[in-house]
Amino acid sequence: MLNLVIFGPPGSGKGTQSANIVRKYNLLHLSTGDLLRQEMEKDTPLGREVSKFIDQGLLVPDDIVWRELYDYVTGHMDAPGFIFDGFPRTIVQAKALDCLLEEKRAPICLVISVEVAEEELFNRLMGRSEDSGRSDDNAEIARRRLQVYKDQTLPLISYYKAQNKIVSIDGMAPVDEVFSRICKAVDGFLAKQKV
Ligand code: ADP
Repeated sequence: MLNLVIFGPPGSGKGTQSANIVRKYNLLHLSTGDLLRQEMEKDTPLGREVSKFIDQGLLVPDDIVWRELYDYVTGHMDAPGFIFDGFPRTIVQAKALDCLLEEKRAPICLVISVEVAEEELFNRLMGRSEDSGRSDDNAEIARRRLQVYKDQTLPLISYYKAQNKIVSIDGMAPVDEVFSRICKAVDGFLAKQKV
């Protein structure tokens, strides 16, 4: 399986790039943000619990996100691979994912880290708020999401660096350019596998 993680702060363009990657490499797109928002739309007790966190710009507790992710991954092990978008976001999540994928003998191949300057991220989130309709796209919440990212998610870079899996991509470049750099990294990985 070709299992990729796309990693980056809110507003880094992960969702856009994931859509491109899915098309080119025929992977399943697993966005925990999308799964959680679907839960919110259903307005179930779980959805209401989830919205308390998302609407404040906080991370949803690991056990809730894990249940959503576990069911999806274990239900689709016949796929050519996954792109994990927005997961993992904490070290606990990263370790749980590593364990599950090791058990399935289908580890993460690459972690694509999309890097964008903080002010640019903020401006993008504010620009997006006009048409996204997302309850967490406003100035105060955007600032908090960026802070939560720095505190809880950024440490994952060292975690994956220790596994030699990080590829850093300049996310300030135009969308097509970012995509072609990602493809170069993925194709490089695939070529090495074939030798
Ligand atoms: P973005 O990367 O633009 O913030 P996402 O759609 O990935 O958008 O996530 C939106 C929100 O969903 C997050 O701010 C968080 O509250 C929740 N969320 C998504 N994925 C996770 C996760 N892996 N762990 C905890 N919370 C999550």
